[in-house]
Order: sequence, then structure tokens, then C-alpha cells
Amino acid sequence: MVEMLRTTDRATRERLIKEAGYNVFGLPSDAVYIDLLSDSGTTAMSDYQWAGMMMGDEAYAGSRNFYNLRDTIKEVMGYGYVVPAHQGRGAEHILMNVFVKPGDRVLGNMHFDTTEGHILLKGAEPVNCLAEAGYKVGEEADFKGNFDLDLLEAEINKDVDKAALILITITCNNNGGQPVSMENIRGVRKIADKYGIPVFFDAARFAENAYFIKHLEPGYKDKPVAEIVKEMFSYGDGCTMSAKKDALVNIGGFVAFRSEEHYRKAIEWQVPFEGYVTYGGLAGRDLEAMARGLKEVLNEDYLEDRIGQVRYLADLLVEAGIPIVRPPGGHGVYIDAKSMLPHIPRHQFPAQALTVELYVEGGIRGVELGGCAFGYKDPETGEDVWPELELVRLAIPRRVYTDRHMMVVARALKAVKQRASSIKGLRLVYEAPVMRHFTARFERLE
Ligand SMILES: *Cc1c(COP(=O)(O)O)cnc(C)c1O
Repeated sequence: MVEMLRTTDRATRERLIKEAGYNVFGLPSDAVYIDLLSDSGTTAMSDYQWAGMMMGDEAYAGSRNFYNLRDTIKEVMGYGYVVPAHQGRGAEHILMNVFVKPGDRVLGNMHFDTTEGHILLKGAEPVNCLAEAGYKVGEEADFKGNFDLDLLEAEINKDVDKAALILITITCNNNGGQPVSMENIRGVRKIADKYGIPVFFDAARFAENAYFIKHLEPGYKDKPVAEIVKEMFSYGDGCTMSAKKDALVNIGGFVAFRSEEHYRKAIEWQVPFEGYVTYGGLAGRDLEAMARGLKEVLNEDYLEDRIGQVRYLADLLVEAGIPIVRPPGGHGVYIDAKSMLPHIPRHQFPAQALTVELYVEGGIRGVELGGCAFGYKDPETGEDVWPELELVRLAIPRRVYTDRHMMVVARALKAVKQRASSIKGLRLVYEAPVMRHFTARFERLE
């Protein structure tokens, strides 16, 4: 599909962002020139997927597209029990109800925000065990999505009975789409086996993770990505997936299990919340596009082009002196707002301010992943708690933009950098109790 882009003038953008409460989630997408808000559901589908959309079997139960999806997931990931869901968070909701009770702890490399939300809603505690290197934004290292395996074991030992689940997020979205190595995944499995804890993948970007393993990890350069994917999943008991990422579709998700017992428990939650077991909130045609996308994403020319474009934007930004998370991950470039706007204190949301300025400058929409998305007020002391990282993510939609668009993005950021010292912080004036960054409203400080 090809879409027209609309340009706007600066005065219009100033007005619109003010009306949106200085939160880019509130902008109409027509007023965005290059939309890097998310790589989620923004993929352009292929001719083969669109053809599949015409073959939707919309029977209430037993759609042929479900069986195709189930067989594809079995073939690609090795998990035979498949529970479709409307998107990733629907899958997470089901998974938490299978494994997690109030007071439990869910251990991960670094939980994604919706995952963290579902763990908290269940009355459980999300625990991140990311290795130290993953937090060091300016330092080049491979596999910055890895667990600190000693920390993981120490966290389990704090209360073995409460350690309900280990979740490996591939790639690790919240610190820059950083990959997890096969060696690290194997290490997690070994520890999990020692304590009898189930291991699941948050598999949103499994193919991108496999691509990094192929190119960075010794022993994998001659293995096809499809084979690497199979090996990764062999160390888990199942996965949740937001199909809006590496299944190359605009909507969809699923939970997949190795064991029938887990599956039986999952469908008790799927049927009331998502839909009957063979559709889970999706149309037959959506299931077909997902099945086709899950195979297309393994194409190595596609992956080279995809991850190459992210690398290209990162190189342009480095050249322009913009501080970014290095190396760039699989699906976007993350800007370190703390170092780009050092004069703005945390409680004035530097990453949010940078997101606003990038929109005003060039009509480009990124997203804050910092103090607004992950900060909160301590329920006992009422004090603000700030996350380590204060980033702006420029997520690149799959198969949508050209490298020329990336040049425009780099040019706009360069202009923002030139007036960085005059950029003002923001005051938070409205927040929801969970996942506040979607609907938060701000005022600009003078
Ligand atoms: C997008 C995403 C999710 C949530 O999926 P939705 O489809 O947006 O509900 C969960 N985990 C990771 C790592 C993601 O990137």
C-alpha cells in the first residue's frame, strides 16, 4: 500500500501539540509527516498476505485459517497449542492468569510496559534482571538484552515459592530493541530447570533477535535464521506474541504452549476475554495474514533490509552528534534525552520535551520511554521514583519508509540539537493510575 503524506507548518504543529496536552499520542496521524511512534501494527503487508486476506474463513468455530496459523506456529516455533488473542497484551493477560497469583514475582530481562502492567494488575511483582551493560546507553556491547544470570538466581532465591514465571523478552524493547544471545537463553533455561520455574518468551521480535544471533554470536553465521528461531524457542515452554511486530500484520497476537495442561488453563481465560478458542478476537482473514507473515519474516533479505535501515538512521544520528543507545537495536533508534537536554531535571520530563520538539521541528512523531512511561509515585512516601533510562524511541515501521525519510529525520534532529539549550521542560498535569504515558497531559514550562 502507498499512502500520501501531508506536510503541516510549524504554527499548526505548535497548536496541535498544545491541544494534545504535549503528548504525541493525542495527535491526529494526518498531522504527522513521518510517523515513528511505533513499529507496532504499522507494517505494510505483502501481496501474499493481502491475497490471504481474501481467503478468510469466517466460520465462528474451526476456521481453516486457525489451523493454518496453528500449524505455522508449530513449524516455526515448535509449540503445538495455540491461543489467538486480539494483540500482545491480550496474550499477556491470559499468560498471567495461567501462571501468576497475587504476591508472586515474575522475573525477566526487562519487562515491556504492558507486560509490567499485567503483572501489577495481577497483584504480582515485576522483577528485571537485565545485565549491567544493558543500562549503559553510550557503551557499545553485543547482546545488551541479556540477563545477569547471577542476579536472576539471586532474585529467585529471595523466595523460591514466589518465583512464578521467567519471561525472556526478545528483543528487549525497553532498552533499545537489544538482542538476547543463545548462550544467555540457554543459561536462563538451566537456572529455571534447577528451580522448576516455567520459561516463556515475549516473542514480539523473535526474527530480529535471531538475525542478531546469526551475525553476532560465534557458531551461527552459517545457520539459516529459521533454524536459529527453532533453537531459541526450544529452550522455552511457550511464548506470548504481539503479531503487530514480527508477524508483519496490523492487528493480532497469540499465546503458544508446549503443554496441553497449560493450554487448557489458558482457554478458560481466552473464551470470556478474547473469543472462542479458534479465533480469539480476530477475523479469519487476520489469522491468515498472521500465518503468512510469520513465515515471511524469516526471509533473510527482508531482515537485512529492515535492520540495515535502522542501522542507517543510527549512523546518520551519530554523525550529527546526537547521543543514541549503541549499538542500535532491531526496530528503532533510541535517543538519550538526559544527555541531549542535560539542563532539564527528571521531574520536568526531558524525553517528553524532546519528543514534543521533534514534532514541532519536523512533524516527526517519536515516543517517550523514560520518566513518564516508567516513573511512578511511591505509594508509601509519595515521592517520585525515576527509571534509570530517559529515552526517546524512533521506531521504524516495517516495509514503509525509504532511506530518504531517514535523512529527513536526521536533519530535523540536528536542528533540535542546535537549539537544545533553549528547550523548556514540561509539567505533568494529568496521569492515569497505570500506563500513564498513553494519556498523560502536560503544560510547557516558561
Ligand atoms: C508491543 C509489545 C507488547 C504488547 O503487544 P501489543 O500488541 O501492543 O498489545 C508486549 N511486549 C513487547 C516486547 C512488545 O514490543
